[in-house]
Amino acid sequence: GHAAVSLRQVDKYYGAYHALRSIDLEIAPRERIVICGPSGSGKSTLIRCMNRLEVPDSGAVLIEGAKITDASREAVAALRAVGMVFQQFNLFPHKTVLENCTLAPVLLGGLSLPEAEARAISYLDKVRIGDQAGKYPGQLSGGQQQRAAIARALAMEPRILLFDEPTSALDPEMIKEVLDVMTALAGEGRTMVCVTHEMGFAREAADRILFMDQGRIIEDASPADFFAAP
Ligand code: ADP
Ligand code: ADP
Repeated sequence: GHAAVSLRQVDKYYGAYHALRSIDLEIAPRERIVICGPSGSGKSTLIRCMNRLEVPDSGAVLIEGAKITDASREAVAALRAVGMVFQQFNLFPHKTVLENCTLAPVLLGGLSLPEAEARAISYLDKVRIGDQAGKYPGQLSGGQQQRAAIARALAMEPRILLFDEPTSALDPEMIKEVLDVMTALAGEGRTMVCVTHEMGFAREAADRILFMDQGRIIEDASPADFFAAP
């Protein structure tokens, strides 16, 4: 079978700045990956290449064997293979939580509105904010907003779920409720790629930890090896 995600000799520049340097990476179906490393090391750029939010300057990115580096952003969205959760939630502020979760399943997924609403409610219940479905994002706490964003991603039923620093914008008391949801998802057999500084989550939920520095993956290890004393 195909890898869930493959990066082959991926390079990315921002002007003269070399943000990703010859990245080779294979992620197997159902693998749970944590990407960590210092600020500016290329973590966000790397994960954004897996959803075609960034396009490498050279090299190839394949999702389930399909090369997305030459495809349009719309064509990649139409594959419906990848969902993403962002640091800043990126919810639509003038739509309710429920509407945020039904929009893409109706427009891209071909569901009827009642079908999309039933599905959205089930995922909002799963992240334990079913009772907030009629509210606007601004009426929710940060932790609730991030759980709504997770439900929105889940509502498209992607096989690969990407998280880009999902707890970095949250107050400390809300971090745990989001990590608890992510830990539960990690037990469900989806492929997960998480950029995070939460090393407790990495130790508990990851199969592999990648450590990036200056545009390179300089360590790729199991949690046991990663956390072993040198
Ligand atoms: P990380 O997620 O590890 O903090 P990023 O991938 O966000 O790192 O950024 C890597 C480097 O590329 C940083 O120095 C950042 O400032 C730079 N960078 C990221 N996006 C852009 C952009 N759109 N334009 C110019 N520089 C960028
Ligand atoms: P995040 O950490 O959530 O990925 P950032 O704060 O690193 O977000 O970046 C937010 C946006 O700004 C991204 O689109 C990124 O590509 C862009 N960006 C980051 N660094 C730079 C930079 N040095 N110059 C221009 N754009 C940048």
